[in-house]
Amino acid sequence: MNIPFNVMSASDPNYKCCRMLSSSNNRTKVPTHWHRDLEAQIAGKACLRHPFASGCDPSPVHVDVGICGTPCHPFSTQRAGRFEPGSVEAHHECDIALGQFIRWLARFQPSVQIFEQVMGFTMPFTKGGSYTPLQRLKELLQQQTFQGGGYWLVTKNLDMRIWLAISRPRRKLLLVSLSLPGPRINAYGAWIRA
Ligand SMILES: [Zn+2]
Repeated sequence: MNIPFNVMSASDPNYKCCRMLSSSNNRTKVPTHWHRDLEAQIAGKACLRHPFASGCDPSPVHVDVGICGTPCHPFSTQRAGRFEPGSVEAHHECDIALGQFIRWLARFQPSVQIFEQVMGFTMPFTKGGSYTPLQRLKELLQQQTFQGGGYWLVTKNLDMRIWLAISRPRRKLLLVSLSLPGPRINAYGAWIRA
């Protein structure tokens, strides 16, 4: 689309994997700082590219667009016992989506935020229940105080078979700051205020 951008920072525990992805997709836009995880990025700790620095500033200027794809294992229907009571919450990676991501969003407050998860994120915590991780996420968002008043929240279903010969359905959340002008609302159809 030829829209100029810079990646101020990114985070993932697997630096080699992310270097490969980054260099494969856009060699000229390697993140300036690569943090070990979301908490290290929030805290501005020395990153994996500059391990001897006293710290690395993850966001020298305001973030226009943030993208998070938190681990899917707690929510995936492919995991044995996914719908057993307490199973999702007990998973060691559950807090990344429903804890760390909220703190990350509150810290950086991008104008537009994309959050990607598997379809299981929108399914009930327990078999026969109705309360979902997505509902929990909305409640947590409502408890935060954001500049500009908060975010408009849109959910979109995506399936990787649009691009490849495999089907990997995903749910994408799009959060747009309320401080941005209104016409954007029309571009995405039905909006739900978080
Ligand atoms: Zn750094």
